[in-house]
Amino acid sequence: MKNWVWILLVSAAFAKHEEYAGWKSYFVAPTTQEQLEFLGSIRDVLDLDYLSYATVDRNGLVLVKPEHQEEFISTLNNQGINYRVHAEDVKKQLDNDDEQIEARRSSLRSTPEGEMPYDNYQPLDVIYNYIDKVAEQYPDVVTLVTPANSFEGYPIKYLKISSSNFEDPTKSVIFIESTIHAREWIAPPTATYAIHKLVENLTDPELLEKFDWIILPVANPDGYVFSFETSRFWRKTRSTEFSTSCPGVDGNRNFDFFWNTIGTSSNLCADNYAGGRPFSEVETRVVRDIIHEHLDRMVMYLSMHSYGSMILYSWGHDGSLSNQAFSLHSVGISMADAIYENSLPHFPRYSVGNSRLVVGYAASGISADYAHAVGVPLSYTYELPGFGGGFVGFHLNPRYIKQVAEETWEGIAVGAKRAGALFGNQ
Ligand SMILES: [Zn+2]
Repeated sequence: MKNWVWILLVSAAFAKHEEYAGWKSYFVAPTTQEQLEFLGSIRDVLDLDYLSYATVDRNGLVLVKPEHQEEFISTLNNQGINYRVHAEDVKKQLDNDDEQIEARRSSLRSTPEGEMPYDNYQPLDVIYNYIDKVAEQYPDVVTLVTPANSFEGYPIKYLKISSSNFEDPTKSVIFIESTIHAREWIAPPTATYAIHKLVENLTDPELLEKFDWIILPVANPDGYVFSFETSRFWRKTRSTEFSTSCPGVDGNRNFDFFWNTIGTSSNLCADNYAGGRPFSEVETRVVRDIIHEHLDRMVMYLSMHSYGSMILYSWGHDGSLSNQAFSLHSVGISMADAIYENSLPHFPRYSVGNSRLVVGYAASGISADYAHAVGVPLSYTYELPGFGGGFVGFHLNPRYIKQVAEETWEGIAVGAKRAGALFGNQ
């Protein structure tokens, strides 16, 4: 009897990543801007999925479906673009990843309820228990806001952190949004760690004296849960308004700024489907409404993503620069420098620049461009580190989660201070 249970459990585990059978993943290594742009240009044609963006002279990681393997290889050979196989069998690698994460989970101490551990990736309930607990324990500084439920009914939760109840008009507001893309599991720890450093372990009082903070750790809870329980590479929301067979919209293509003009797909099943209209998703409306509610004082908006070790700014649709480009670049470099000083020798150094130019691929309807267009002077997309930090399978090795959370916080803190000095009222 016991053997039967064991066999059932094992087959359930191995059935999990069946949808990725026959997929392969490749490192791609463009050496010129032309090659980088070319890799961007074949994304939609070959239905490629970049898990980590390449830059010139830095590897990217791309998923290739079985039906496009041959053409992918011949196209890269024709163009003289270097590549090598990362995972010969994506499904098998994902099974290995699961084992690794599970083994790590069982070897670690169990985490007390409401504590946020940084030694492994965290399911939604652990993150939510943590922010509920922080709000309960520090009512003078923290306000928990649940503005709406997700499409599938999870509460969307964010924290307002302030030593003056958001009532001091001279303070600048910093908004950190994370995980509009479901599968980017390294993003929530950077958001919860920011909460930790502002509430539980405030070592730099200036950050509360001069700033009010809004931190939204999981903007897309439906997709986040789905990426844990069903499809590891799920990126979109889970709404079914436009399709029931291919649910979901790319939240970071759903904002009303050059919406659905470039770098999106009209294929409802594509990972970068922009939705049937701007702000069709409750999850993106929540982000929009936070931006507008605090626009008069918001000096910096950060959208946390992975992977790539990049700090990216406007404009993403055409690669042109905004009239704040100098400040965007200078503060971006300050954040990257602070991260570098606190990073590990084998982590790649951050690239800072215009998102279209750095990744070689245009994107429209992205949140950082929307925020900047409506008036947030400093607005960035962070692509957090993956490679160099002991990239195992399709994850940053969990042993480096704490490192990434800590070093990213150093960047955020420096960015906030520079944003306040440049654009604040104090
Ligand atoms: Zn992303």
